[in-house]
Order: sequence, then C-alpha cells, then structure tokens
Amino acid sequence: MPFEQGPIRPPSEAESLLIRINRNCPWNKCLFCPVYKGKKFSRRTVEEIKGDIQAFKEAEQRLKALSLQHGYGGAVTVELMELIYQQEQELFQVAMWLYRGGKNVFLQDADGLAMPADKLVEVLTFLKKQFPTVERVTTYARGKTAAKRSLEQLTAIREAGLTRVHIGMETGHDPLLTAMRKGVTAAELVEGGKKLKEAGLSLSEYVLLGLGGKDGWQEHILGTAEVLNAIDPHFIRLRTLALRRKIPLLEHVEAGMFQRQTDEGTAREVKLLLENLRVTSTIVSDHILNLLEEIEGKLPWDMPRLLAVVNGYLDMPEERRANFRLGRRLGHYRTLGDMEDKRRFAEVEGLRRSLLERGEDQEEFIVKHLARYV
Ligand code: SF4
Repeated sequence: MPFEQGPIRPPSEAESLLIRINRNCPWNKCLFCPVYKGKKFSRRTVEEIKGDIQAFKEAEQRLKALSLQHGYGGAVTVELMELIYQQEQELFQVAMWLYRGGKNVFLQDADGLAMPADKLVEVLTFLKKQFPTVERVTTYARGKTAAKRSLEQLTAIREAGLTRVHIGMETGHDPLLTAMRKGVTAAELVEGGKKLKEAGLSLSEYVLLGLGGKDGWQEHILGTAEVLNAIDPHFIRLRTLALRRKIPLLEHVEAGMFQRQTDEGTAREVKLLLENLRVTSTIVSDHILNLLEEIEGKLPWDMPRLLAVVNGYLDMPEERRANFRLGRRLGHYRTLGDMEDKRRFAEVEGLRRSLLERGEDQEEFIVKHLARYV
C-alpha cells in the first residue's frame, strides 16, 4: 500500500478512512494496555501525511475512472467493488470507504493531539481541501494532552476540520489512575474534557469496567462518575478489562496483587455507574467484550430502561445468568431477550453441561475465551 496504517481504531470508526498522523503511543505505560507495547512512538512529518492523503485522492480518481470505463457512472457500486476485489486490491480500502459514503475519517494512532497544533491544522486543512465532502474527522487523544492544549489551539484544530475526540479516561479514581500508570489525574481529565467541549469538539470518554478489580470496583466507579459528571461528555463508551499474555497487569494477577472482576461484578459496576451519573450524555456499550450490549441510550431520559436491563440480568436466577454469560461470550446471544429463543437457549445449556462434565470451570473458560478478543 502507498500509505501507512496503524493497528486500531474505535468500533464506531469502522466505516472511516484511516490516516496515520503519528506512530504508536507517546506514553505507552498503562498496565492494562497491550496495543503498542514494544513499539516506539514517532512523529510523522506533515509532508509524509500529505503524501498519504494525496495517495488516497489518486485512488479515488482512479476508482472514478474505472467506474466510468465500466459503465457505472463514476460511482463506487457493488459491481465495481467486485472488480476491485479481483483485480485492483490496492484500491480496495479507499473503494470500501467511498462505497460506505466517504464521509468519515479517523486520524491514528494513540494521541492525535500530540501533533503540534499548527501542524495538525495544516494536515486537516489539506485533508478538507482534497476531500471537501468529508463530514466527520475524529482521533484518539490522551486526557493529559488535551489538558495541555490551549483553548485557542483546540478551537483552531476544530475550525480546520477535527470534529470529535475519543479519550480513554478508563477511570476517574486518582489512586487507580496512578496504580495503572495512566499518566493523568482526574483533575486533568476534567480540564481536558471541558476544554475540548468548549472548543466545540464532540467528546467520547471511554470507561474501563473491571479496572478496579474485585477489591476496588466501587471507588473506581464512583470516581469515574464524578469525573464524567464534571465533564458531561457527548458520549460515554463502556469497555471491559480483559487480559492476555504480555499485558503487564496479568503479572499482577498472577502475583495475587490484582483480583480480576467477574462478569457479575461488571454488571454491578454498570448499575452503580448509572445510579451515580448526572449527565446528558449518550451512553454506549459498543464492544464485543462487554456483557450487556443493550446499555445504549440518552441520559437521563433512558435511565429507567437502562437500569431495567442491568437489574433484569442481576435479578435472574444464577443458572440463567450463567447461561447468558456463556451464550453472550460465545456469540449465541447479543441481548437478554435472545435467551427466549428456545433453540439457542438449549444449545448454550448443552455447552454448559459439557463444560461441567469435563470438570471445567465456566468462569475460567470465559476468561480464556475473552483473551482472544484483546
Ligand atoms: S495512553 Fe492509551 S494507547 Fe497509550 S498505553 Fe495508555 S491506554 Fe495504551
């Protein structure tokens, strides 16, 4: 490919064109995060990034020419996608982006605001000039970096085209932020979040369920609610801690210093969080690792419905909750209502029984299974 790509983007950016503006994470010390471990942060130059944007533009022009040549009127159609897939694989990413509307762009990697503000403005201006129909441009950023940027800088960045920032706050509880080496304080998270909003940017804050473990979950959630209440972000996105080899926090688990939260515990965390939020945010549970995908709504209006979902799970008999946990983790269910499908329910029960017969612990089985998604 004539352009660089980083390893990840948020699930909500699945239809976005990915443009890498820096490589890896400038902090890279969080105990629970595997994404950039062993990789060094480096800055890409404005010229390198413009070169990638230019390559995307050329791909767009080539696709248009191919579309006209094959009688599709210049549009990226299903038929053109099939042709590209068979004959011009290097155009596939841009073709897919245009096929999905070509409206959204995500700037990689971990901390888009780490780029000097004037350079980021230059990149955004070039991007909007090359692709004037782009409507949404988003990036991940560290809360600390957002706090360090001035309101004038953030406003200039928004005016140049950035529309949304995704911040992985994980928790608002200061001792936990320190223990997990997050490199930011609750006060900085609030300062950065408020400033981003004041600059006119849409703000997504990510909360990591399970980060306080079995012992510190209440403090984790209450501190998180406090920070979110102070910021009142546009979006609150829930994530669930999962660990696999090479994640430093797993060593703490193995040394007995950190007790993993259970699925039951994370459901209680969601309940406590909802009960303590005083925000007007949209809350979303948009990740495969989350137990309760149905937690999605606008606060405070949807609060009764969302609490009913969590209570609906917590109030079920233990056997039925165990069935849901296994079915959800293995992809048989997405919602609690899916358990009403007798065929699916029976299939999951069959799996549960075979685990019991083999003497396998269901929770251990789930932990191992989830590690595959990290
Ligand atoms: S700041 Fe984000 S990307 Fe960097 S190590 Fe922490 S969680 Fe990972």
